[in-house]
Amino acid sequence: MSAPLIDPFARTIDYLRVSVTDRCDFRCTYCMSEHMTFLPKRDLLTLEELDRLCSAFVRMGVRKLRITGGEPLVRKGIMTFFEGMSRHLDGTSEAGRLDELTLTTNGSQLDRFAQPLWDAGVRRINVSLDTLDPDKFRAITRWGSLDKVRRGIDAARATGMRVKINTVALKGFNEAELFDLVDWCARDDLDLTFIEVMPMGDMGDGTDGTLRLGQYWPLRDLRTRLAERFTLSELSYRTGGPARYFELQETGQRIGFITPLTHNFCESCNRVRLTCTGELYMCLGQEDMADLRAPLRTSEGDAPVEAAIREAIARKPKGHDFDYSRQRADGQMSRHMSHTGG
Ligand code: SAM
Ligand code: SF4
Repeated sequence: MSAPLIDPFARTIDYLRVSVTDRCDFRCTYCMSEHMTFLPKRDLLTLEELDRLCSAFVRMGVRKLRITGGEPLVRKGIMTFFEGMSRHLDGTSEAGRLDELTLTTNGSQLDRFAQPLWDAGVRRINVSLDTLDPDKFRAITRWGSLDKVRRGIDAARATGMRVKINTVALKGFNEAELFDLVDWCARDDLDLTFIEVMPMGDMGDGTDGTLRLGQYWPLRDLRTRLAERFTLSELSYRTGGPARYFELQETGQRIGFITPLTHNFCESCNRVRLTCTGELYMCLGQEDMADLRAPLRTSEGDAPVEAAIREAIARKPKGHDFDYSRQRADGQMSRHMSHTGG
């Protein structure tokens, strides 16, 4: 094992999120346009290259690997990659030990992938779902089927996997469903986390982010609504991600809040993001990145890759600059979430 990755603000980097494809079988309105142009396939890292890079990170102290996209389960042969990564879970790898291999998915392909994922050691997954109304689901995802996603969630639960639902809080869209979503998760024993909509990618209105601003439902308001029916107590529970958790005392449910905008979650940031083309982003909300594909392709040994990773971590910024407070979507990113991986 190599020395751990520590950034200039003394944060240990032990969490890597990997976008394995920018492609997706949905077109969520807050994420991409309907006629999204995807990267040429030749620009993508092969599954072997992804394995090599992720293994280098594990060697350098990464303990948690989250596979995302785009939709990770539409990448051809993706199970080969998961099966490869499972060697870091069971202690048989020389690289070191991964505590967790996990996945963020839209759930569309889960009914067929749930069992193989379980067999590869995946024990916890996040499924993104913003509404329980089939028509609204179709409208927000443009192409998705709620029924299929729910079958996928059931298949995952049947394996014994823990499922967390990630819901983007959208003003005027799912406000009225707040308690329905909470009740459904209580009934089906699903964890639930709300995410504030971020000013990224296709802003839906040209350039200035006004539409996204209109969709912005601050989670502090959502929490106030929840408190009308439940008693909320803050928990110290953390999953290694950016969410803060509250317990609903009446049901014992755990509800997560990811508030990149109302709460600056950067001080405890332990993660970096790798794109499917081998770019390493040190912060979701900043443009700076390091190209890992070149050192990977120019050398058979991993020393140049490790050096490039260390150099990148040494420039990890203190935080993002997202800010809706001046009635504009400040700090907005032209990059799509599907590129960097949500
Ligand atoms: N396709 C998978 C999915 O939807 O779960 C994985 C990739 S997706 C980019 C990861 C997460 O990013 C999803 O939970 C999605 O809701 C979230 N996301 C996408 N665009 C967002 C935005 N503009 N603001 C906040 N969350 C966003
Ligand atoms: Fe696809 Fe996920 Fe983006 Fe929706 S949020 S378009 S499912 S990548």
